[in-house]
Amino acid sequence: MRFRPGAGLDTSQVSDRRGMGGGGLAVGGGGLGLAGLVIYLVISLLSGGGGLTGPLANLDGSTVSQAPPGQVLGDECRTGADANQKQDCRIVADVNSVQKFWSGVIRNYEPAQTVFFSGSTDTGCGAASTDVGPFYCPNDKHVYIDLGFLDELHSKFGAQGGPFAEAYVLAHEYGHHAQDLLGDLGRNGAGATGGSVRTELQADCYAGVWAHHAVETGYIIDLTQADIAQGLDAAAAVGDDRIQSETQGQVNPETWTHGSSEQRQRWFLNGYRGGSPNDCDTFSAKNL
Ligand SMILES: [Zn+2]
Repeated sequence: MRFRPGAGLDTSQVSDRRGMGGGGLAVGGGGLGLAGLVIYLVISLLSGGGGLTGPLANLDGSTVSQAPPGQVLGDECRTGADANQKQDCRIVADVNSVQKFWSGVIRNYEPAQTVFFSGSTDTGCGAASTDVGPFYCPNDKHVYIDLGFLDELHSKFGAQGGPFAEAYVLAHEYGHHAQDLLGDLGRNGAGATGGSVRTELQADCYAGVWAHHAVETGYIIDLTQADIAQGLDAAAAVGDDRIQSETQGQVNPETWTHGSSEQRQRWFLNGYRGGSPNDCDTFSAKNL
């Protein structure tokens, strides 16, 4: 999976809260760099002070100084060449590509912010810690991810990992955002044929649909068979049956929430081969 070196990245789609702990202030990666923040503060002081409201209201010098310079995404991640070099820039490029795709599919598409965090952070769906893994919060329409999870895919879940495995994770979460916009999120029900599994398998399928069109978005040069294999490997690694057998020593389909390894791979492939959201009707599928 190679990114087009000249493709411009839009870091405004990602907020970087790494190293800030719970309740930290999100500094928009592409919005205001450190220099921009300083300028903003000076202007605020000149204009009479007390004018700090909105997202910058909690800002103080200590918060800014805690963020290592390398975490200012806007400076670090400018082009696809950066995405080919650095993991966080790669995720920015994934997010850009996935949203470019969906904005061409869903009328009046509303972009969803991805939030990088480490340890724990506040979300519209309550406090979140690294342990819960990447997730989409419909209340604030943000995707939350501790990038450490991408290493855990390999170290904890046994996946081979790799850039396309990472892209699959992000594309799955944006699949939930697409479901949210299309009114298909929020169907509950546990078990192998319940609403939760159907929702998750559709998100896997949507990830495949994006993969089908990934090169067309302009951010990615090519996807090879090895890339797709990475994605399928990651999908299998987070299958309910695989996780249950490894953590509990047994498989209980009645408590499944995401579907089996085989199902997650198959629905990703359905989307990848077909290339249309219509290939992802997990809600009425008889052969789930
Ligand atoms: Zn999901």
